[in-house]
Amino acid sequence: MNILVLNCGSSSIKFQVIATDLERIEKNTDERLAHGIVEFHGGQAIVTLSAEGKAAHHSTAPLRDTRAAVKLILNWVISKESEVKAIKSKSDIHAVGHRVVHGGEKFKASVLITGEVLSDIEECIELAPLHNSANIQGINASREIFGEEMPNIAVFDTAFHQTLSEKAFLYALPYQLYRRHKIRRYGFHGTSHRYVAYRFRQLEKIEREKVNIITLHLGNGCSAAAIKNGDSIDTSMGMTPLEGLVMGTRAGDFDPAIIDFIAAKEGLSALEIESLVNKQSGLLGISGLTNDMRELLAEAKENGDRRARLAIEIFCYRASKYIGAYLAAMNGADAIVFTGGIGENSPEVRRLICEKLSWMGIEIDPLLNETFSNGSEGIISKDKARVKVYVIPTNEELLIARDAVRLTSNDASGL
Ligand code: AMP
Repeated sequence: MNILVLNCGSSSIKFQVIATDLERIEKNTDERLAHGIVEFHGGQAIVTLSAEGKAAHHSTAPLRDTRAAVKLILNWVISKESEVKAIKSKSDIHAVGHRVVHGGEKFKASVLITGEVLSDIEECIELAPLHNSANIQGINASREIFGEEMPNIAVFDTAFHQTLSEKAFLYALPYQLYRRHKIRRYGFHGTSHRYVAYRFRQLEKIEREKVNIITLHLGNGCSAAAIKNGDSIDTSMGMTPLEGLVMGTRAGDFDPAIIDFIAAKEGLSALEIESLVNKQSGLLGISGLTNDMRELLAEAKENGDRRARLAIEIFCYRASKYIGAYLAAMNGADAIVFTGGIGENSPEVRRLICEKLSWMGIEIDPLLNETFSNGSEGIISKDKARVKVYVIPTNEELLIARDAVRLTSNDASGL
């Protein structure tokens, strides 16, 4: 089967076309056929399209909306010029998988989208207004372009964390707020945490129930998850993706009383403060330079920039503390897994996070650690360390495509 995977955001649409089926999933021989991104800039969009193994095509197009963008993607995929293997017409695409950010308490796994499912996703809009609205536009565009017969699948960022127990997901706020408005921790990046947990069990050749690990997704957004007996039992992002680790531009944990204090001192509105803590904080806010970890590392090394160093230090310190907390929550773990742009590619950040954790049995082999900086997968802990440390590149699109295969083949076993 060929699956079109759509990740529709408020300012961009990413896509992949992946050839996979139940046999390929079993043998791990899925194949990416094409990928690309449409970035909206006002009425104009920058379009980058690549067939696997071929050079990327760059162009601009006057695209009005999501529907126009999905149409452009499809027209390119099926065109002769694109040279996308095995796809010649619309009918060579067999299902469309959608990333949906918020599934609330309703969605505990991926689902085939029906009219009822779509209205349930709409009900979650208030929990993630920008994200879910964009995701729904993608679903509607796909339904219009491919017709009613095409299976559309929703894969939720929150679903993997629906196994959290009340003690982990409830805030110590008046309980009525949960009852009335469903204010609680939901967690995000679930597809990524689920994917690396799955790869970990393949690499270790163990069953799902034996997976006891802490996964750290460190990219522009960052989150940690405690995975016990294969299930997520705690995670650092909360009701929204703001809580937890220090991120590219998000503050992560901070005292909520600061919000009123800033409002009074700086004369900012609630909306302005929301933007400040989500878009101007984190690595960018501390360094005053950039949210890009690569640049901060270079700046700290080449120019000894104090604030770049401070941003890296605070980022790593917070991540170490979460590892300690989750080791306590899980009564110990067998491994720590690093993923995401920073986790997969930065030996220095991994070293800084792990260097104070030897007491807990976490010890990185410096030479092995250096060998993982280009998206490869493997173990970086010392031979005799009590807790293994892995680097596993994430692949959310692959998991979305595989879920689409499982749901259209009525095989719920891997969901
Ligand atoms: P993501 O959101 O997963 O794409 O991750 C983006 C982040 O990964 C950015 O902060 C990048 O600077 C960071 N990143 C990518 N490559 C490297 C690298 N080689 N070293 C450090 N950080 C990196």
